[in-house]
Amino acid sequence: MEDCIFCKIVREEIPCYKTYEDENVIAFLDILPLSKGHTLVVPKKHFKDILEISDEELCTTMKALKKITDHIQRIYKPEGIVIRQNNGEKAGQSVFHIHFHIKPVYNGTTVVSEVNHRREYSKEEMESIVKDLNMLN
Ligand code: 5GP
Ligand code: ZN
Repeated sequence: MEDCIFCKIVREEIPCYKTYEDENVIAFLDILPLSKGHTLVVPKKHFKDILEISDEELCTTMKALKKITDHIQRIYKPEGIVIRQNNGEKAGQSVFHIHFHIKPVYNGTTVVSEVNHRREYSKEEMESIVKDLNMLN
């Protein structure tokens, strides 16, 4: 895509701190990292989000993601790792070329928790939702 910033990175029209590349996927350091080693894993082909990407491209990207995550764990030995992927502006997506964040978490890294924003749903609400979303038959 002409104007997409990650497509420009893929085409090497703008620079990045690249850590991984294969035929289908690249990974580079986030320009505004949460922590040391915060990496973005990006399919080279342009897809906007999880709804648009093909199963095949997603699987290929996931395999690279796992490999890169293992590597970061081995090198930096963080206490934990957050994998995050935002879809849509309301969900926090700011670059509309699908990407996965690998965010190493160390002692002192601030991880924003959503736990205080959750609430229990009533039995009736849960039953209604499970009826709406049931894919079992
Ligand atoms: P999103 O908010 O869409 O989930 O994540 C986009 C990420 O891309 C942000 O964390 C942001 O810091 C990063 N980012 C935006 N522009 C650039 C860029 O030009 N280069 C790099 N390396 N990262 C970028
Ligand atoms: Zn793109």
